[in-house]
Formats: sequence, structure tokens, C-alpha cells
Amino acid sequence: RFITFEGIDGAGKSSQIANLVELLRGRGLDVDQTREPGGTPLGERLRELLLHEPMHLETEALLMFAARREHLAARILPALAAGRWVVCDRFTDATYAYQVGGRGLDEARFEALERWVHPDFQPDLTLVFDLPPEIAAARVAATGTAPDRFEREQRDFFGRVRAAYLLRARRDPARVRVIAADRAPETIRAELEAIVAERFF
Ligand code: C5P
Repeated sequence: RFITFEGIDGAGKSSQIANLVELLRGRGLDVDQTREPGGTPLGERLRELLLHEPMHLETEALLMFAARREHLAARILPALAAGRWVVCDRFTDATYAYQVGGRGLDEARFEALERWVHPDFQPDLTLVFDLPPEIAAARVAATGTAPDRFEREQRDFFGRVRAAYLLRARRDPARVRVIAADRAPETIRAELEAIVAERFF
């Protein structure tokens, strides 16, 4: 099974990923936790460039898919073939949210790249952690970590990213589930566990 986590920066994905991995391992399942961009030695090097090196928007988009191709070939598909569960922080929905919604690039180009890089392959379940960009920005600021170049972007950028995620959920409601992330962590955890139980157990 392949489960992906999505949402704007500061939506609280990381701690809920840890909760899900703990839940699955507690059931005796073999879980591979990974992330995009990244997940392989090459992918992590591309991630460093993507997060810190200024570049043309289409270069950014192509590097995202280059990292994804490597990730699928070297890690995700072999793990799934071996019967493992893969839990991934961001996947192709993030491209539609950030590069298409946020940056305004042409959606049709990404549909072509998606057909190239993973035809007939989608996550079994995608969880979108949704909250207003103002709250997310305050959370990111409170962590005190240095913002990457995406996090320095304007709030209206994250508003567009959020809207693009919600559109993905409306288009494919069976796969993409939205979780309101402006609530107590324990409440969010309980909803996450209920969705996963309903879907898989
Ligand atoms: O999930 P995480 O916050 O680690 O993602 C790293 C950064 O990459 C984020 O700031 C996100 O905005 C950006 N990103 C992106 N396009 C993607 C995936 C991630 O701009 N397709």
C-alpha cells in the first residue's frame, strides 16, 4: 500500500506521519517512510538544489519529476513489490499544488510528465492536511528554523497552493481525503486513524 501526505508548509504533516507509521508498525506491518523531493541518495541531492538554489521554474518542475522517477525506480516500487507499506511525505499532488496552483505553470505539461513517470500508478490513499495559510505561516515561524526559499514566498502563494490541493480532492474524492488541520493534534490523529482503518482494515 502506498499512502501520501500533502498540505502547505506548516500544516502539521510531519507529526501525523509519525503517528501513522507508529500505527501501522504497531499492527506488525513493514513500513518504509520516505519523502519527496528526496527519498534516495540522488533524490536528496536534488532536494538540496531544489530548496536552496534559485532556478528557472521549468527547471524546478523537471527536477521534481527527475527525483520522482528515481524514487519510484529505486525505492517505492521495489518496496511495494516486496509487500511493504510506503508512507511518503508529498508526491505528485504536490506538483499540481505548488508548480501548477502556486506558480501557475501549465497543468497539461504535468499531466504529460505524470504519464511518462508513473502511468497507471497512483497512491492508494492521499491525506491532505488543510488549514488557512495565516495559521500555517505562524506555525512555521514559531519553529525557529531557517525558512527555505519556498517558505519565504508570499501568503497568497500558499493560498493558491491550498486551493489546488482542495481541487485535487474534489476531482478524486475516493483517493484524496482532506483533514482539517486547524484542530488539536489528538483530534487530527483520531480522524487520520479512522480514515486509514476504514480504507484498509
Ligand atoms: O514537505 P517539505 O516541507 O519538506 O517540502 C520541502 C519544500 O519543497 C516545501 O517548502 C515545499 O513548498 C516545496 N515543494 C515544492 N513543490 C513540490 C514539492 C515540494 O515546491 N512538488
